[in-house]
Amino acid sequence: MNRTGDLGTLIEQSNDLDWLLEASCADLAVEQLDLFFVEAGKSLAKETVAMCERCPARVQCLTHAYDNEIAGGYFGGMSPSRRRKLSRNDALAEVTEVAVMANAS
Ligand code: SF4
Repeated sequence: MNRTGDLGTLIEQSNDLDWLLEASCADLAVEQLDLFFVEAGKSLAKETVAMCERCPARVQCLTHAYDNEIAGGYFGGMSPSRRRKLSRNDALAEVTEVAVMANAS
């Protein structure tokens, strides 16, 4: 697969994004990352929510947002407003709990 212009290229050019290689969104084109950046008050598409819920890199994605103080966009499937409300540890506990429940069903 030619990864020019896709997320794979971005990953290969970054030192701290190797966790994205395992992500459900790893094969999206860079332009498709808009899926995770919606207007305030709007929600992600159901398909995008499902992608994040089954993503093996969900915890790393959310951790990346907290560690880099990223204010916008959904990371780990969590909205910016939810991230502002939760501490890093509470947010990580929340997505881990969701993942455990999803795997149990
Ligand atoms: S959790 Fe993060 S890395 Fe995984 S699909 Fe969603 S946006 Fe991509």
